[in-house]
Amino acid sequence: MSQQETDLEQLNVFDLSGFAKLITLLQEKGYTTVGPTVEEGAIVYDEIDSIEDLPIGLTDEQAGGKYELRKRNDHALFGYVVGPHSWKKFLNPAGLRLWQARRNGRSFEVLEQEAPAPSYAFIGARACELNAIAIQDRVFLKGSFVDSDYAGRRQNIFVVAVNCGQAGGTCFCDSMNAGPKAKSGYDLVLTEIKAQKRNLFVVEAGSEAGANLLHEVPHEPATEKQMARVSEVVSDAVAQMGRQLDTRDLQSLLYRNSGNGRWNEVAERCLACANCTMVCPTCFCSTVEDTTDLTGEHAERWRLWDSCFTQEFSYVHGGSVRSSISARYRQWITHKLASWVDQFGSSGCVGCGRCITWCPVGIDITEEIAALREADSGLSSILRTEEKE
Ligand code: SF4
Ligand code: SF4
Repeated sequence: MSQQETDLEQLNVFDLSGFAKLITLLQEKGYTTVGPTVEEGAIVYDEIDSIEDLPIGLTDEQAGGKYELRKRNDHALFGYVVGPHSWKKFLNPAGLRLWQARRNGRSFEVLEQEAPAPSYAFIGARACELNAIAIQDRVFLKGSFVDSDYAGRRQNIFVVAVNCGQAGGTCFCDSMNAGPKAKSGYDLVLTEIKAQKRNLFVVEAGSEAGANLLHEVPHEPATEKQMARVSEVVSDAVAQMGRQLDTRDLQSLLYRNSGNGRWNEVAERCLACANCTMVCPTCFCSTVEDTTDLTGEHAERWRLWDSCFTQEFSYVHGGSVRSSISARYRQWITHKLASWVDQFGSSGCVGCGRCITWCPVGIDITEEIAALREADSGLSSILRTEEKE
C-alpha cells in the first residue's frame, strides 16, 4: 500500500508549523489561499497569506439580529462559527461580467474573456458550507444547463475543511443533517484539539489530491486518544446547537399553509432588505444588467446577485407577481425548504443560521416554521372537531 493510500485511510496529526507549511505548499502550487479573517468587526472570507491572518483567539456570539466578536481564553485558530460571508462569493461571484463587446463600424465585435478561472484553496470550510457547495453544484452543474464560469472555478478548488468544535447561537446544521462533522466534499479535513496547551490538528485526507499534499507536510499518526478527541469535539458542537428545526413533513406543511395568517404577521416585521438571501450560502438568484460607455463604443453584460425579496425580482409585464412582503417571505421559505426538494432533490437549507443572525429584525426561520406548525396543528384540530360534529 502506498503512503498516499495509507494517508487516505487513517487519521494523522500535525501542529501549527505543519499547518503553516500546508498553507505555504498550497500557495507554491498556485492556489490563492482564502479563509476566515477579521474585517470591520466580523469574521469574513478573504485572501490570507499565513495562519497569522486567521482570527486567532477570537469567537463570535450570535443571536437573532446580533453578532459580536469576543476574545477567547485560548489561542484557538477556529474557535468560532460562520460569519456573513460564504464560499459562494468565490464560486458564484456577486458581480460577474458575462461578456463585453466593442463597436466595429455599424456592427459590434464580442471580445474574448481574457481571465482563466482562478484557483482557490478554501481554508476552514465548515460541514454546513460543504453541503451548501454541494447544493449549488446541483443548481449550476447538474441541471440541463451547466454554468461554465461556476464549473471552471469549481473544478480548480482545493478544500481544507474544519470540523466544528463549538456551535453558534443560531446554528442548526444538526437538524438539517448538514454538520457539524464534515463527511464529504473536502480534500483535507482538520479537527483542532488542545494537547498540553499546544494547537494540534487531527487531519484526514478526503481525496487523492489531499493525500498527496499531506504527504509533503510533516505529520505523524494520531494516537487513540487524539482520535477519540475528534468525536468528542463534534459531540460538543452538537450539544451546543443554538437552534433546532423540526423537518418532519416539512414540504407538505408549507404547501398546505400557503394561505396561513402567519405570513402576514412575519411581513409586519420583515423589511424586505434581502440580507437573508445575500448571506445564505445556497441562494443563487441573479439579475442581468447591460451597460455601455458614454461614447457607445463599448458595452458589457453583467450578472449580479439578486433576491426574491425585491419587488422587481418577480416583475413581469404589467407588475410584480409578488407585490406584498408576505408573498415574498412565503416564497423564500417555501422555496428554501419545500419546492427546492422538488427542483433539486434536497433541501435548500443547511442550517448555518446566517439568515437569523444577519436579519436586522431577527426574523428566525426555525421560529417561523415552529409557529406555522403550531398554527397548522390548531387548524387541523378544529377541522377534526368539525368533521366529528
Ligand atoms: S436559509 Fe438561513 S440557515 Fe438555511 S442555509 Fe440559508 S442562511 Fe443558512
Ligand atoms: S427576513 Fe429579515 S433579512 Fe430577510 S428580507 Fe426580511 S428583514 Fe431582511
